[in-house]
Amino acid sequence: MTQASLATTPSGAGVVPGLAPSTALRHFRYERPQSVSDAVAMLEGDGAVPLAGGTDVVIMRAAGTLTPRVLVDVKAIPDLRMIRKHETGWTLGAAVTMARFAQLRGKGLDALVDGAAVLGGVQTRSRATIGGNVCRSSPAGDVLPGLLVLGGRATLQSVSGSRTVGLDKFFTGPGMNVRRPDELVTQLDLKPSDGGSAFERFTYRSWMDLAVVSLAVRLELGADGTCVEAAIAAGAVGPVPILIGDAAAVLVGSRCESEAIDAACESIASAVDPISDVRGSRTFRLRVLRPLARRAISKAHARAVDGAVADGT
Ligand SMILES: Cc1cc2nc3c(=O)[nH]c(=O)nc-3n(C[C@H](O)[C@H](O)[C@H](O)COP(=O)(O)OP(=O)(O)OC[C@H]3O[C@@H](n4cnc5c(N)ncnc54)[C@H](O)[C@@H]3O)c2cc1C
Repeated sequence: MTQASLATTPSGAGVVPGLAPSTALRHFRYERPQSVSDAVAMLEGDGAVPLAGGTDVVIMRAAGTLTPRVLVDVKAIPDLRMIRKHETGWTLGAAVTMARFAQLRGKGLDALVDGAAVLGGVQTRSRATIGGNVCRSSPAGDVLPGLLVLGGRATLQSVSGSRTVGLDKFFTGPGMNVRRPDELVTQLDLKPSDGGSAFERFTYRSWMDLAVVSLAVRLELGADGTCVEAAIAAGAVGPVPILIGDAAAVLVGSRCESEAIDAACESIASAVDPISDVRGSRTFRLRVLRPLARRAISKAHARAVDGAVADGT
């Protein structure tokens, strides 16, 4: 194959045989740092982009919406692959894959585990990472509502230092967030939960489909079964996944009986502002939201009750 027969981009960088210039893949350098300090030094460079599981990056590159000069593969960094429980909750490395969350079932993170379990198919889950889902920042990201109800906070590291941002302040629009290009998300910290949590989503197909509407709930119960703390988050019903504090407040002080759940579902529906798009109309999303919310609240409640019974409380 001669150079003349290769497609090229206007800058002359693309050299993929048989592809039109608009779809030609540009050359890039691939780096595989072994430490966070090496990774953030590489991200200082112009056009350097983190690569985790690649399940979004590869597609965005092929579509031409991402044109990295350097791909910084973060999967070999041990700190980004650890799962650690401590007194103040959990720390999850950003490159932990969805498949690994299966081992965390029943440990107070079920809303997250539920989301990880339905993301993509088996192959996708074995590659896709929690940090990738957070940084992709899709309103329909399957682990995002679960992370929100579990009080998720992201640590962002750069050469000049680190900062921690609550996920309720991390997302700024569809596919957008507060991360600077030179920052690496190294870990996600979650609050401990003694209660129950759950994630539910509506999709047209049972797997390999993005959520049309999604919802996560966490409930903490007192010794007498009264709800003492609640968190509710919705996905795919607005530009970013959001916590809905008013709806959660409706459940606090109740025993999560049917009337309280109905009131919470109404509160959720009035707090969101879904758009109509190819996946569903605004009206359809609002209609699906209430039964989905009821299911998620009931499941979180059942898990909280089961947990209390198992603990002998
Ligand atoms: C077949 C298929 C099915 C899918 N189904 C679903 C689904 O059902 N639900 C769903 O939510 N998603 C789905 N996705 C999208 C994708 O799998 C998820 O968003 C996944 O979590 C991305 O993780 P990743 O590790 O592959 O990220 P990558 O593709 O490696 O990266 C995604 C983005 O995050 C950035 N990034 C990654 N890690 C870091 C880090 N540590 N610090 C800073 N930036 C970082 C990258 O630069 C890139 O911009 C699907 C994708 C495919 C290909």
